[in-house]
Amino acid sequence: MLMTSDFVEINSHKVRILKRKGQRHLRLRINSSGNAILSMPKRLPKYMGIKYLQTKTAWLDKHTFQPKQISFGSKLFTGQEISIVDGSNTRNRVVISKETLEFYLQFDSNDPASQRYMSKIIKNLYIDHLSKIVSQRLDYYSDLTKLKYRDFAVKNLRSKWGSCDRHKQLKFSLYLLGVDMALIDYVVLHELAHTKYMHHQPLFWKLCEQYMPDYKHRQKQLKISRMNLV
Ligand SMILES: [Zn+2]
Repeated sequence: MLMTSDFVEINSHKVRILKRKGQRHLRLRINSSGNAILSMPKRLPKYMGIKYLQTKTAWLDKHTFQPKQISFGSKLFTGQEISIVDGSNTRNRVVISKETLEFYLQFDSNDPASQRYMSKIIKNLYIDHLSKIVSQRLDYYSDLTKLKYRDFAVKNLRSKWGSCDRHKQLKFSLYLLGVDMALIDYVVLHELAHTKYMHHQPLFWKLCEQYMPDYKHRQKQLKISRMNLV
């Protein structure tokens, strides 16, 4: 077998450990679904990987989706407020309404398992929410520019706001939820423009400017925006 895979938990982060034949160094990365993966040489014992991961907790905090501490009354980007109900007799469950997210938790809400459960629900809610916004803005700009894309997805991207590959598949960062609509529009147009020009040469920027004369201003704003979600 070329590869074995296993999961470990480091500071409430679930990390997949892949042992690969031919892998020479430890390599920690986040895949496109936002999950942490550590690749390590096959002959290296697992505890060495765990030891390594323990020095990387700050990196994991930064690169995996983790709304700060989720507590009673936290207000979400989707507009709802969190309420936490004692659900110690049942399994974890959530009731989602327009105004609230009611969590029935098996454990104390500060417990890592409860935090993970809530975080997962909120992440999915955020993905749905941003997908609706992005879909609507893509419709608008695609109509305006006559540029066509193949498909799009919202992902847990922490190193970039968006991307476009040569198949015209677009990706948008979940963290766009934390910035102004005008900046989401800029990223949408920017990625759409890449369906025509796969570079950042003057022609590309000319196209952006044609449909968004103040794109430079928005670009600056976005540069100082932090990738952060409550
Ligand atoms: Zn670009």
